[in-house]
Amino acid sequence: MLNIHNLKVKLANKDNEILSGVNLEIKENEIHAIMGRNGSGKSTLAQTIMGSTSYEVTSGDILFNGKSILALSPTEKSLQGIFLSFQHPSEIPGVSILGYLRMIYNKRAAKPLSPIAFKKYIQEKLDLLGIPKEFLNRYFNEGFSGGEKKRMEMLQMLVVEPKLAILDEVDSGLDVDSLKIVSKAVTYLHETTGMAVLLITHYTRILKYIEPDFVHIMDTGIISKTGDKNLAHKIEEVGYEELRS
Ligand code: ADP
Ligand code: MG
Repeated sequence: MLNIHNLKVKLANKDNEILSGVNLEIKENEIHAIMGRNGSGKSTLAQTIMGSTSYEVTSGDILFNGKSILALSPTEKSLQGIFLSFQHPSEIPGVSILGYLRMIYNKRAAKPLSPIAFKKYIQEKLDLLGIPKEFLNRYFNEGFSGGEKKRMEMLQMLVVEPKLAILDEVDSGLDVDSLKIVSKAVTYLHETTGMAVLLITHYTRILKYIEPDFVHIMDTGIISKTGDKNLAHKIEEVGYEELRS
């Protein structure tokens, strides 16, 4: 599904190389975790997959379902089924959550839903995550706590049903209830639609809720080690420094 070949990335306005040849293959239904110390390039990888203008690909390629996506806009990538959960989502004042979710649903749906039909549809998602329906009347990210932003994003993910979800440090600063909501949403889509997951994290905490098939360690711009979930346990035991080869 996602194939990354020898990806080298630098800052768009400078010469610093941040990623120095990343290789990664994610197949349908697989859950991959990328771990690594702060500043190793994890977010740069996520942002580059989604197409942030802050970064420039200097060599290599990113393929999604066999085709290069380097030239596509973030919107086109999203319509193809790639979802990125932001570490710091922005506010969009004046748009209600209900209105926003219905808009992104109808943009993708073969048949748009009426406001009443959509309310019924979204109620099932709220029930699934255990979110009270009053939440829908709030404005998009306005004055949201970290946990509320994450609830919003997970509803968004359930509505767009991506083929690949990239979650960048979704666990940082989240309480256990919010972590459970994230894991419920991810597990639900993974199990019902075969959604693949790229879980980027510094800590092993979230891996107790979302169990990875593969764990990769990122170290100064490359994937230096790959293993199964036991590699995450090893990181917890001995730390990143000890695992450097
Ligand atoms: P991680 O997510 O693993 O903590 P990042 O991908 O955010 O790491 O950063 C990797 C390196 O690139 C760091 O040294 C960081 O300071 C640098 N970097 C990333 N994005 C930018 C940016 N927009 N401007 C300046 N430096 C950046
Ligand atoms: Mg980061």
